[in-house]
Formats: sequence, C-alpha cells, structure tokens
Amino acid sequence: MLIKKALLLVDIQNDFCTGGSLAVPCADEIVTAVNQIQCHFDCIVATQDWHPANHASFVTNHPGYNLNDTVVLESIPQILWPVHCVQNTVGAEFHPLLEKKHFSAVFHKGIDPLIDSYSAFFDNAHQRSTGLADYLHQQEIQEVYIVGLATDYCVKYSALDAAQLGFKVYVIEDACRGIEFNPGDIAKACEEMRAVGVEIIQSRDLMRRGFPLAS
Ligand SMILES: [Zn+2]
Repeated sequence: MLIKKALLLVDIQNDFCTGGSLAVPCADEIVTAVNQIQCHFDCIVATQDWHPANHASFVTNHPGYNLNDTVVLESIPQILWPVHCVQNTVGAEFHPLLEKKHFSAVFHKGIDPLIDSYSAFFDNAHQRSTGLADYLHQQEIQEVYIVGLATDYCVKYSALDAAQLGFKVYVIEDACRGIEFNPGDIAKACEEMRAVGVEIIQSRDLMRRGFPLAS
C-alpha cells in the first residue's frame, strides 16, 4: 500500500530570517534544500506565525518587562519575544526565495492575542486547533516530514504534536535551523523528539528511501 507523505514547512517567514526582527541564525540557508525536496511529496503544507499586533508574546505589550523574560499566559510559561510576524506585514510573509506554488494549504498560528502557538497543530495550551491535523487526516496522510524554523521551538513542538496525533514523523535536520538561546538547546530538542519516536534525518536520506523523483 502506498504510504501518503506530507511535507510540513514551519514558519519560513521574513521575520525569522536574516534582517527579520526575530532572526534565527543562518535561517536563509535552509531555503534551497526546502525547495529541492518539495518534489518528493504529493502534499505540501506550510504554516505562518500570524500574530495580531496586541499579541501577548510581544515584549512591547508587557511594560516593565525585558526581552526574553518569562510571563505566564493561560497557566503556560511564555518567553517574551520582539514584535514579529504581525498579520499582513512584510515580516510575516514567506521568505521571497521559498518555492510556494506547490503548497496545497497554509495554516496560521498564534492568531489568538492571549496565547502563543509554537506548534503547527495547536496553541500552547492545546485548546485551539489550527486545522492542520484535520486537513492531514482528510488527505489520508500517514507520514509527516517537517522542515523550517526554529528547531528548538516551533519545529520541536510541531513534531511532538504530530507524533502524539499518531503520524509517523520525520524532522529533516539540515532543512531546519534553531535559535539555541542556550548552548545545547538544539541537541536537547532533537533528544526530546527522538524520545517520542520522531526520526531525525537529512535531506539526502530522502533519495535513499526510494522516493519517486519529480516527473
Ligand atoms: Zn510568534
């Protein structure tokens, strides 16, 4: 039986890339690899961090607090970030060199001003779904391959949720970049993902796995 595979592109947006307000180191380096591997998948979905300007993860909305301080939102610890990925701004747009014409759907996350959403599937309190899980089920997807930004935040939480939802999950390491606030954060994220059965692979492994080539 043919196993249906989806490629999930997490938050490959201007504000997370070079020159953006919350730039992930070397984020731009993944764009070429992400474009090259798209031909191996029938279903390609992408997320955009998509915040209202009054979003509670923005340090500017917490007078007296500093960048990267932690507050509590809906009982969940929340790191305070710079203003980023505000809806309908250039910073929230996909990286200009990212190939977008094969996207079958785009899901927005972080739209509730009161809570953040690191995962592509749910907000951080697991209260509201983005719709991605239902979509993948409708498409009869069994395997989810994840690329994007950042390895130690949104990629990790997306992978953990995808595994919990019952998908076989792969994270393509060389098509992700992490923030690495603290040395070892990326390695720790990979360990957490592996612990729930996520496989960490490289983009070249896709060729070895006997994927059909683009027609
Ligand atoms: Zn955000």
